[in-house]
Amino acid sequence: MLMFGIMRVWAFVLCLTSFVGAQSQRTVIAASTVLDGKAGVLRNTRIVIEGSKIVAIDPKAAPVDYDLRGLTVLPGWIDAHVHITWSFGKDGKNIGMGATTQDAAYQAAANAWVTLTAGFTTVQDLGSPTTVPLRDAIAEGRLPGPRILTAIEAIIGRGAETGTPDEIRAHVRKQKDAGADVIKILASGSPRQGPMTLSHEQLNAACDEAKKQGLRSLVHAYRDAVRATILAGCTQVEHGLSATDDDLKLMAERGTYLDPQTGLPIKAYLEFKSRYAGTPFFPPTEEGFAGMETILPIAHELLRRAVKIPGLKIVFGSDAVAGVHGRNAEEFIERVRIAGVDPMAAMVSANSLGATALGMADQIGAITPGLQADIIALDGDPLKDITAVRRVVFVMKGGVVYKSVARR
Ligand SMILES: [Zn+2]
Repeated sequence: MLMFGIMRVWAFVLCLTSFVGAQSQRTVIAASTVLDGKAGVLRNTRIVIEGSKIVAIDPKAAPVDYDLRGLTVLPGWIDAHVHITWSFGKDGKNIGMGATTQDAAYQAAANAWVTLTAGFTTVQDLGSPTTVPLRDAIAEGRLPGPRILTAIEAIIGRGAETGTPDEIRAHVRKQKDAGADVIKILASGSPRQGPMTLSHEQLNAACDEAKKQGLRSLVHAYRDAVRATILAGCTQVEHGLSATDDDLKLMAERGTYLDPQTGLPIKAYLEFKSRYAGTPFFPPTEEGFAGMETILPIAHELLRRAVKIPGLKIVFGSDAVAGVHGRNAEEFIERVRIAGVDPMAAMVSANSLGATALGMADQIGAITPGLQADIIALDGDPLKDITAVRRVVFVMKGGVVYKSVARR
């Protein structure tokens, strides 16, 4: 018992040292392979960190604090689409968004921890009012977790019921006042069929008001809603199922980002259907989940076409939901295996391109002096074996080390 007590004290002291140290200490990381986040590779060098930032890349820097030679070092990943507060409640059922119980709060904090230690140092949460206190607690260093941007309450298209364009504009301003970092809009219902759930006028109002408020607008869109999203000048298309090649080309032309998924959430819904059945937005019974897997080939087909469109900016978004937090990197593996995405492009989609899409390229997404020291290391080379993304052995965010596992 005594030994255990001493170890706990030591763990606490070490933890505290790293937190305090981040303010001023100089840290040197030695690396044999660094993916710089912008498709470049650095060999046999050292990364110098002071406080929260990278200050130099200097092969002669000393002394070395973390020897990450033999691993692949790269910027912490950015996931453009998660639902960090979604979890299963005490009864095992999906609690969905907005749950305010003590249990739900702890679950959300646990989701943040597993996401961070899986190598994701920044995530964009697309819609939950309870994400704000989690985001702020992490930003203030009170809880460990990824840097979070959140949409707070999404605009859920329900035809005329959604509101007039003026009411939709008011909703956007309300989110901004509540501290939203981004505006999320749902302009489609079922992935398989059905018309847009917002009129062009409503969608235009939402994206235009977001722009006026200095916020990006991300639109959950399938089929004809994809083109409407591009033409409305919104920032990013989420999912994009059944977009035509012409839609994808127009997206590339207009600079609209695409955030497709290979199916992590669908797999989660099927794996945990007893937990999702009967909860808001899901079929009432497990039988209702039959056929959900038919969406997977549609998603894969979209991504296979999308990667062939020159200039199309495809970001990384896992759409992590209850049951799969911390498994976000599976999306990389599926993209490479199923859609033939180039592994380097897959990494960049979650590094510099992901940062640019968030409007944060001057802060994160690359291993460059002046940027935040968000640095991870993989046991393996993802360019040769994409499953290396499952083996995150080192995580630093803003100069603070949250995970450092000895090499095997
Ligand atoms: Zn989502």
